[in-house]
Amino acid sequence: MSDYERVREVDPAVADALVGERERQNGTLAMIASENHVSEAVMEAQSSELTNKYAEGYPGKRYYGGCEFADDVEELAIERAKELFGAEHVNVQPHSGSSANMAVYFATLEPGDKILSLDLTHGGHLSHGHTANFAGQLYDVEHYEVDAETGRLDYDSLREKAESFDPDMIVSGYSAYPREVEWEEIQAAADAVDALHTADIAHITGLVAAGEHASPVGVADFVTGSTHKTIRAGRGGIIMCDEEFAGDVDSAVFPGAQGGPLMHNIAGKAVGFGEALEPEFEAYAEQVVENAKVLGETLQDHGFSLVSGGTDTHLVLVDLRDSHPDISGGDVEEELEAVGIVLNANTVPDETRSAFDPSGIRAGTPALTTRGFDAEAMETVGDCIAKVIDNVGDEEVYAEVAATVEDLCNEYPLYE
Ligand SMILES: *Cc1c(COP(=O)(O)O)cnc(C)c1O
Repeated sequence: MSDYERVREVDPAVADALVGERERQNGTLAMIASENHVSEAVMEAQSSELTNKYAEGYPGKRYYGGCEFADDVEELAIERAKELFGAEHVNVQPHSGSSANMAVYFATLEPGDKILSLDLTHGGHLSHGHTANFAGQLYDVEHYEVDAETGRLDYDSLREKAESFDPDMIVSGYSAYPREVEWEEIQAAADAVDALHTADIAHITGLVAAGEHASPVGVADFVTGSTHKTIRAGRGGIIMCDEEFAGDVDSAVFPGAQGGPLMHNIAGKAVGFGEALEPEFEAYAEQVVENAKVLGETLQDHGFSLVSGGTDTHLVLVDLRDSHPDISGGDVEEELEAVGIVLNANTVPDETRSAFDPSGIRAGTPALTTRGFDAEAMETVGDCIAKVIDNVGDEEVYAEVAATVEDLCNEYPLYE
């Protein structure tokens, strides 16, 4: 692997940060549910000469010359994504998941049109219409919620909300929802009010590709996603839709919302999608879900409450209010980082603290599973998390847990 010697020659400060980041990733447990570790092949593709190339337009119809290899790479990414997801039309140019959502809105909505989406504090995403985001500023947005008791989507109330609000677009797909989403139920609500439906699978792109989660492709009008969370294709976004919307989506991405595509990242997507087509990827995705179940059960054995009582996906959402009412998610995030376990504080349904210091933590297994963590290792990780939260401030316990974390990192090496 690159040791950043060429960066160091011209820029030691940046080289230090890059080496520091590699050591941080190698030496800590990445449990932020939206993070993963791409292969060295994906990273090599992302750092290729394609970063130099302007390729505005689409394969075969570019606004610049010299695009033959850019075309090859983008066509490979598109073909592989079509095969992975069974989509009619794919656009691999969005710079991120948020940009993918922006392009779908631009393709279908006028400013002032109505979007119905899940509340951010219930697991939605900023780009689904939060007031701090362009989507909340351009469109008239209302939210549905998960059931506070069960922590699950309440499809009946979603439908009632749709009937009273009469949205132009319903957005599904979430950032902190541990359960399987029933896309048909949401599609039925959209059909009932003649709204379009965007299923944003940013978090579960890899699970959907591997068949570990039901696919909204062919159900929802638009499927958007990120390419760096449960699928390991490097940072970026993707849009899928039927042929009927292909032209509108493509022109909403370029020239509507973006300029030149990040061709080096599209090369990363092509390589990562190719890896996801290999049989090992299905085994990986299955292990991601299995590991999340084991993590959840281990935490429950230690007395923790999980939102919805468990998980069907790659993440668990812990509601600390029952077991540890005096500790906030923010405190837990900080204490765990001190022993090398990196996850994030998260709001829970019916949040009683604040969005900045909420009552929950969210923990995901995609990155650890990439390192090779199996059920037994996940149980050890769950024990470590519980030990820290049960003994906040106890230096002896922290030293013990930090040593276990170090052993795990050495046993399951990452970038060497
Ligand atoms: C992560 C995420 C996105 C995409 O975020 P980017 O950081 O812009 O790639 C979009 N929607 C949901 C639901 C997400 O969780």
